Amino acid sequence: MSTSPAVNRRVTLANRPSGMPELSDFALVELPIEAPAEGSVTIAVEVLSIDAFIRTVMDERAFHGAAEIGGPLPALGVGRIMHSTVDSLQIGDAVFAPLGSQTVAELPAEFVRKLDERVAPSTAYLGGLGFATGVTAYIGMMEVAGVQHGDTVVVSAAAGAVGSLAGQLARIAGAGRVIGVAGGPEKCAWLVDEVGFDVAIDYRGGDLDGQLRAAAPDGVNVFFDNVGGEILDAVLEQIAFGARIVICGGISHYLDMGNVVGPRNYLKLAERCARMSGFAVNFYAERVGEAEAALAGWLAEGRLVMHEQHEHGIENFGHAVRTLLSGGNRGKLLLDLR
Ligand code: NDP
Repeated sequence: MSTSPAVNRRVTLANRPSGMPELSDFALVELPIEAPAEGSVTIAVEVLSIDAFIRTVMDERAFHGAAEIGGPLPALGVGRIMHSTVDSLQIGDAVFAPLGSQTVAELPAEFVRKLDERVAPSTAYLGGLGFATGVTAYIGMMEVAGVQHGDTVVVSAAAGAVGSLAGQLARIAGAGRVIGVAGGPEKCAWLVDEVGFDVAIDYRGGDLDGQLRAAAPDGVNVFFDNVGGEILDAVLEQIAFGARIVICGGISHYLDMGNVVGPRNYLKLAERCARMSGFAVNFYAERVGEAEAALAGWLAEGRLVMHEQHEHGIENFGHAVRTLLSGGNRGKLLLDLR
């Protein structure tokens, strides 16, 4: 267990970035730790989840609500209760909450979930069991995609957190062939050798259309898309009759959300009687229990593996966000403050 911090070290949004955030767009401030208000708790933050939405909330207009200049960035995390005013949460309890980019968080107790570390280590609640990772991959692949036995499934940003799980879930759902799209030969080798994808395509390696045709000669039945843009267009070109395209995210657009361009190849949906469906996991809160139970079972059996990449120190929050956006992560990117 980590010792209780003496001050709250908070990373704030210094400037709204244009494109890739600069380190100067983040500032580090130190704040005193106050006693929690009645009904609230104070949490020593242990590990923060670095997610793509952190970049989108840096914009003035954002689906998840814009972060304020001078305020903290939103981030999900796990930590330990330091002070409590409620009976249900005791000092030392491991908890999950929207803790934000800081080392100490004060939150109303209703926003805080007590974790059972006998079920899984607390970081699993950010990764394999995490709402923005495991649960997202589960809803997208097991519900929205409608995978059928023998399907050829393609996943983009496949070496990332959601993508690496989505590929493994496709296999569990009965897919015949699972193809990942990722940046660089090392990530592609990792996907095949260690994560269990059948084929991995390096989108930075050129001739994406040719690589996809070779990997899926009979067409793509399901595409789980985390990226959008050119990768979405290339897969649309290659979809099979009756294909299902799941829009989970569009990270290729997140650095310039004012100029999102729709898919050039969307008429393939009509030609091949295919459908494209999006989803946002926050509308599936009632499915969390079911998703977690299923994911926990597969993780325990070893059928699902969540690779974690730990960066360290709150002062590296901005660096970690840049790492995610530039593809420097394999699996779940976490910022470890312990
Ligand atoms: P990841 O761990 O997948 O990290 C992001 C990855 O995206 C990077 O590692 C990088 O991998 C890839 N990437 C970044 N920029 C580009 C680009 N321009 N073109 C192609 N690939 C790029 O992040 P998450 O697992 O947290 O998120 C994955 C996706 O899931 C995001 O789009 C996110 O918005 C979405 N999401 C959706 C939710 C929903 O409710 N629908 C909930 C949570 C997440 P590489 O090296 O391969 O380029």
